[in-house]
Amino acid sequence: MEKTLVIFKPSAMERSLVGQILTRFQQKGLIIAGIKMIQLDEKILREHYAHLVDKSFFPLLLKSMMTSPVIVMCLEGKDAINVVRLMTGATNGREALPGTIRGDFASSNQENIIHASSCPEDAEAEIKRFFAPGEIFEWKPVNLNFVYSPLEMA
Ligand code: UDP
Ligand code: MG
Repeated sequence: MEKTLVIFKPSAMERSLVGQILTRFQQKGLIIAGIKMIQLDEKILREHYAHLVDKSFFPLLLKSMMTSPVIVMCLEGKDAINVVRLMTGATNGREALPGTIRGDFASSNQENIIHASSCPEDAEAEIKRFFAPGEIFEWKPVNLNFVYSPLEMA
């Protein structure tokens, strides 16, 4: 089982889409290992988006990500990083496939509803960035045998 980090961005908060998106992840069988609401600041965003700080759009992205509190969530599941990225869709909402979260809810390259970790190294760093160890719960729903086969859970 693998863990990944999702952020419900201000575009999800402002447009009241949190419930619909959370439902999608739960329908898929992903386990909520951690969840909380926080206000992002410039320091944590410069860390989180370190690969983008030199881009011309970075000041706008920074501002947008601080316009409202966000919900950060750690999801767990088999191949969770890839599964959640596939469910998230392409960065630009206008290019994201219908059926994906961005494809169904976003029409923007910036205001694209959620963040999702893109690889195991990022997922590990991002979970540590947003959650203290005691805020991540090691628990398994009792119905997990109906989400995965025993082979898949090994
Ligand atoms: N972004 C933007 N303009 C761009 C590219 C990215 O505003 O041309 C924003 C967008 O909100 C995106 C975030 O920067 O989600 C992080 O960019 P990344 O390339 O990591 O895309 P993601 O992993 O979110 O698909
Ligand atoms: Mg990214």
